[in-house]
Amino acid sequence: MTVIASNLGFPRMGSNRDLKKLVEAYWGGKITADALLAGAKALRETHWKLQSKFLTPGYVPSNDFSMYDHALDHAFLFGAVPERYASIPSKVDQYFAMGRGLQRPAEGIDVPAMEMKKWFDTNYHFIVPEFSPKTEFHLHTLKPVDEFLEAKALGIATRPVVLGPVSFLALGKGDKHAPAGFQTLSLLDRLLPVYTSLLNKLEEAGATAVQIDEPILALDQPAELKAVFAKAYAAIRAASPRLSILVASYFGTIGANIDFVADLPIDAIHVDLVRAPGDLDLVLPRIAASATKAISVGVVNGRNIWKNDLAKSVATVQRAVAAVGASRVLVAPSCSLLHSPHSLEAEVKMNPAIKLWMAFAVQKLEEISVIAKAAVDPASVADELAANKAAIEDRKVSPLIHDPAVQAELRNLSPSMFRRTNDFAVREKVQQAKLKLPSFPTTTVGSFPQTKEVRVARQKLKKGELSEAEYDAFIKAEIEKAVRFQEAVGLDMLVHGEFERNDMVEFFGENMRGYVFSQNGWVQSYGSRCVKPPIIFGDVSRPTPMTVETSVYAQSLTAKPMKGMLTGPVTMLQWSFVRDDQPRKDTTFQIALALRKEVADLEAAGLPAIQIDEPAIREGLPLRASEHKEYLDWAVNAFLLSSTGVKDETQIHTHMCYSDFNDIFQSISDLDADCITIENSKSDLKLLSAFEKHGYTRGIGPGLYDIHSPRVPPAAEIKERLEAISKLIDKRLLWVNPDCGLKTRGWAETEAALKNMCDVAKQFRAAD
Ligand code: GLN
Ligand code: ZN
Repeated sequence: MTVIASNLGFPRMGSNRDLKKLVEAYWGGKITADALLAGAKALRETHWKLQSKFLTPGYVPSNDFSMYDHALDHAFLFGAVPERYASIPSKVDQYFAMGRGLQRPAEGIDVPAMEMKKWFDTNYHFIVPEFSPKTEFHLHTLKPVDEFLEAKALGIATRPVVLGPVSFLALGKGDKHAPAGFQTLSLLDRLLPVYTSLLNKLEEAGATAVQIDEPILALDQPAELKAVFAKAYAAIRAASPRLSILVASYFGTIGANIDFVADLPIDAIHVDLVRAPGDLDLVLPRIAASATKAISVGVVNGRNIWKNDLAKSVATVQRAVAAVGASRVLVAPSCSLLHSPHSLEAEVKMNPAIKLWMAFAVQKLEEISVIAKAAVDPASVADELAANKAAIEDRKVSPLIHDPAVQAELRNLSPSMFRRTNDFAVREKVQQAKLKLPSFPTTTVGSFPQTKEVRVARQKLKKGELSEAEYDAFIKAEIEKAVRFQEAVGLDMLVHGEFERNDMVEFFGENMRGYVFSQNGWVQSYGSRCVKPPIIFGDVSRPTPMTVETSVYAQSLTAKPMKGMLTGPVTMLQWSFVRDDQPRKDTTFQIALALRKEVADLEAAGLPAIQIDEPAIREGLPLRASEHKEYLDWAVNAFLLSSTGVKDETQIHTHMCYSDFNDIFQSISDLDADCITIENSKSDLKLLSAFEKHGYTRGIGPGLYDIHSPRVPPAAEIKERLEAISKLIDKRLLWVNPDCGLKTRGWAETEAALKNMCDVAKQFRAAD
């Protein structure tokens, strides 16, 4: 008797970001559609064979692969293709057009992409399905069946993964024509026959089990959902009486939703025991109460890169086995491994002492296999268990991780380190006396165009083709150009331009202790785009100043005030793989302490203003409302810890990218920044209404134009925008700036856009 070793989904990109290269070659017209499809097929084959080595036959996932995104796959699969894409001739092009837009002027095709949103609390983005009361479903493709048969032909039995009918509809939105109040779930009756016919086709192809993902079970649910789930799964069961159905919940606790999920006519429930260890006690009695149901225990973290504590996981699995018997227990990752990098094998440069503590997707499968064996026969994997135990012990006590000085500082924080000496009302006057800024002061969010030359210089430094001194001289020349440029266009508060930074998180990670970088630890972010998050493995500290030299140099070039530019503690955390051996709060506070020192150094060196970017504060918000307060408290405190150690006269700025601030408005206000710039130009003033409604009383710079497009906003457009804004926000608080950093733009369009923006500010001043 053994426990089943299973997987919920595998990273699609391949060991060398092969899928990225493949689709981009197709988009660039370098390969044909047939070559693209053949390449994707080969990649699936490799991944199935790889997984087969570790998993119980029949428990390798299929249809988890996607050329762009799995939510898009399902919209496409069920024929929810918005009208504007209907006339695109080839299916491959139609699919990609929905994901990323398509411009073919010669054929009269010019369609933007569908909306993209973050997949729950991950950094993966999905395409939001569009529905209307007129939406009719049909099987537009047979992707899950085709891929099942493809694996079968290779001799590999798979368990197809399909997005659940309820999550699929609930994650979608009403299209432009949908009436107000349109509920996407009202389409359930129309979807179910198509959905069940897909399951029937899978059965005909030979599938005996399916994994139906219902990640919305990790959210707070309205009571009505109980009836929707009951109806959906009754229909599925009626259509497929013999198909073994696993419903997977992940990214958080299934919570009270278990009350109705336990009653669904399904065969197994997957729970995320990494995020919600308590779910075992919640769910196990319900499984035990049924005669046949199984539990899939998500014990291996699909969203982080640390080795699993196998002894602990085995104990968890054994509790499940004791309650329901080995044949009703499946070992699994907490969620799809989509959110893990491919394999640690590629990391040949990483410090082996740190690498010893890690597991990427392939290693996680190995862990799953060992846990499944160990749960019933520990002796059969004694060596693996012993090696794991040694690695876990090594990490616990490693001097690489534990820095007593940092820990002592963290223990000695005093309440005064979390507040400015005086309120904004007092600071404002002192700052104004010093900075003497005009009304409607103009500024930018930080970065200026990162041209090819800048990237080439950085690569040359890495390869040793450029010495440190040569590179520094190059960066200084770029800074000088940027300063002269800003003076010429007429900006009031300047920035140095961030030319020395490859990425706003990586730059600081590389300059702090406690971080390590992988060579190949890519994770899909959206479509073909991948990110390589820094890894925080130990106590974080700042050995030497990180930005003082560049900022001081920039200030030395001009009489205009210069902003120092830092990335905030929450964003540093949120966009990294974070150590799991202490609370996230503690890690964030360590980063905040390091930044606090940087802020003090910048102030001492004469920078009159310092911006601490926190674009990721909103995305860190937990999925469940009951957990919001705890998170927001420490997130705000981390920002305060990093930013409040300055005199009244030093102006603290912060920046946030597009977020819906209504539900976290108080926290934004509690950051107590002297000025906040926000991405706003695309949000039809909805966003600002939060600031108006709550009577925001500190400086605020709502972005006046979109920086994601090369288009130069005409002055009249900026003026109209600023006029609308000044009706909502007290004009004495207003700053004039673009939406976000200008890193991805070219110089010519940047010059034209900023000139228009500065002209508008002058007109407003004159009328003031
Ligand atoms: N200061 C950063 C920049 O201008 C901010 C980027 C961001 O908010 N994502 O590039
Ligand atoms: Zn931004």
